[in-house]
Amino acid sequence: MLKRFALLAVVGCALALAVYAAADKPAEGAKQLPVPEMKFNEVKEIAPGVFFRYSSISANDKNIPFGGSNHTWVVFKDYVVVIDANFPKEAADVIADIKKTTNKPIKYVLDTHHHGDHAYGNAVWAKEGAKIIAHTNAARLMKTNGPKQWEEAAKDRKDIKDSELKQVDISFDDKYELKDDTQHVVFMHFGHMHTAGDASAYLPKHKILCTGDACVNGAFNYMGHSNSASWIKCLEAMDKLDIDLICPGHGKPARKDLLAKETRYFTELRDAVKKGIDAKKSVEEITKGLDLAWYKEWTGVGVVETDMNKDSVKHVYNELQGKIDHDRLGATSAPLNWRQPPTGIASR
Ligand SMILES: [Zn+2]
Repeated sequence: MLKRFALLAVVGCALALAVYAAADKPAEGAKQLPVPEMKFNEVKEIAPGVFFRYSSISANDKNIPFGGSNHTWVVFKDYVVVIDANFPKEAADVIADIKKTTNKPIKYVLDTHHHGDHAYGNAVWAKEGAKIIAHTNAARLMKTNGPKQWEEAAKDRKDIKDSELKQVDISFDDKYELKDDTQHVVFMHFGHMHTAGDASAYLPKHKILCTGDACVNGAFNYMGHSNSASWIKCLEAMDKLDIDLICPGHGKPARKDLLAKETRYFTELRDAVKKGIDAKKSVEEITKGLDLAWYKEWTGVGVVETDMNKDSVKHVYNELQGKIDHDRLGATSAPLNWRQPPTGIASR
């Protein structure tokens, strides 16, 4: 099953890549976009008609409330396209910010994946008249596992309790394009990365890639629903796109080398865990012995200082021993909120 998946992942990456070859080229002699300096919850126009909102984050600082995901929105001639739906409360905040930049209607919102901080605000956007778009797997995960996960999340957040789970309106397999004579956005699925249903938004005219959590800038690399081998391959495929600016799901915008940092983290983590398994070490011993100093330089926190990263080590440890059924993570109605691999995994 693992081998078959690896092959599918490669095919997925190849299909996604076929898109960029046909995409618009930026204007001849166009300058490289600057990397914007951002404060929390600030909005900046990062390219003509393209806005980025940098959400507050808490992974590095417990005093800062979690503001969900970042957002990019693109103002077309007649409508606005938004990347990510966030939680219900933050969705309303972002809508207010969008209205300060344009009076055009919000027509489409992309859920980059099914996680709450990227999709649970769907109902708020729908009230604005927007259609929700997502990859087929994200749409399916929201249908099959969504109601139970929503109930769980509603225990912790009043805005979720007071809202409702809105399902996806338009789903796609490889790509979904929106284009007029002012803007061009291509939603692309590269394969199983952070989740089985990840979508990124590529803006070929501006050389911007909005990655959702498929590539983040900081210690936000949650791996519990990932396929780390496929993730590395897909990041390498993404790297072939012509990109000036990455707008990640969490963390600050960055140059294209962010893709290489994310790739390096997964590659070195897998190598270290593999060595540990070969030396018959326990997951705890491997975790303690991890030494990726550059990760702290990049993210500000040590590679195993956060519970999220400790869970990532466990996830890779289980993956490398064939204890994670990646198909199950993406395609079936199995609960996705487990942190330990299920024993006696049933195939579908
Ligand atoms: Zn996520």
